[in-house]
Amino acid sequence: MNKHRVPEPIEKGVLRAKYGLTIYKDGTIRFDATNAPLTAFKPKEIGTPVEVLRKLGYDIDVEGKPLVNEDQLLYLQPQDVILPIEMGDALVKIANFIDDELRLIYNAEPFYNARNREDLIGHLVLGISPHTLGAIVGRIIGYTDSQVVFAHPFWHQAKRRDCDGDGDSIILLLDALLNFSKHYVPDSAGGLMDTPLIIMPILKPDEIDDQVYNMEDVDKYSLEVYSLAWQDAKPKELEGCIKLVKSDNPNIAWTHNTTSIVDGVKKNVYSTIGSIDKKLKLQLEITSCLNGINEREFAENLLNSHLLKDISGNIRTFFTQRFRCKKCGKKFRRLPLSSRCTSCGGELSPTVYASSVKKYLMLGKKVLKLFPLDPYFSSNIELLEKELSMLITKEDAKLLTQKRLNQYF
Ligand SMILES: [Zn+2]
Repeated sequence: MNKHRVPEPIEKGVLRAKYGLTIYKDGTIRFDATNAPLTAFKPKEIGTPVEVLRKLGYDIDVEGKPLVNEDQLLYLQPQDVILPIEMGDALVKIANFIDDELRLIYNAEPFYNARNREDLIGHLVLGISPHTLGAIVGRIIGYTDSQVVFAHPFWHQAKRRDCDGDGDSIILLLDALLNFSKHYVPDSAGGLMDTPLIIMPILKPDEIDDQVYNMEDVDKYSLEVYSLAWQDAKPKELEGCIKLVKSDNPNIAWTHNTTSIVDGVKKNVYSTIGSIDKKLKLQLEITSCLNGINEREFAENLLNSHLLKDISGNIRTFFTQRFRCKKCGKKFRRLPLSSRCTSCGGELSPTVYASSVKKYLMLGKKVLKLFPLDPYFSSNIELLEKELSMLITKEDAKLLTQKRLNQYF
């Protein structure tokens, strides 16, 4: 689909298949992970021996003492990254593929010679955020048993992220240098999006977005901060009494120590609960325990910003849906008069089911039952329900198909 219909050399695909690797539209292989900001770490937390870290430039700990044991706390350098173990193992496969490629396609010496993820420590990767065209170089210094990419806030900001848990991609540097081509990407609007068109080799703290400098750089809060907070002061009014991060000092202070950066929850429970019903139930339970949250406001927000829009959107999708032939797969923008496939006579099935439309309606009603909300919400739901019931009879919902024209006569 690219402009000149250029494929990459097919040999590259064969070599990738050897390692079970698949590629992105731009010819690179990438792994997605969530951002996590980090400013200091202990060698034992990232599984990297102190001798290796000393070679990478970590000579002293946060107190200025020479690095000798794995329990010392070190300031993370702004371009160093700590990857998930799983990603490290996957990068080894890519490194092996690249070495094959160098040997067999480019007649060059293998570069990585990696047998395990530890062999990739000190090597460079690219970090790239969705909907951008620029990638920043990072250096692997270790791995954790987590699902996140730990890096300095400056590094996340250089990818144009504000360190709030967004998902980004990691690419092995040589993969981008050898296999990326802007000639591969689709010739359509946004085709170049999410590709490393520009690579930033050196992170310059005074060239990244100022947002990162709205972070505090203190080891404790003064009494003044607490009193101002008590008086509901605006953040701006606290400016004078909290030291903020400056571009010339990446060593950011912290208020509380941790036993380990990867202790605690490794996977968001939201991704393991399953049913949306249960998610909602648990979410409402938590809200009822928290003083800081007004339950009623929460329920109204939920209806306003999600459920009501979802329900009306789903109703619209249901009535403008396409139909698909169960036999040959042919798609129809409108149901043919015969209600059968015009090519093979096969049975047609809807692409959107009434049950999926009803699901959110039921959820909305459930929320309404739990809280005495403004009548605006209940009448809104009522209207949507009416709209739906006028258009789908019980039988229709069962059959999941539209009425036949002759049924109207
Ligand atoms: Zn058919």
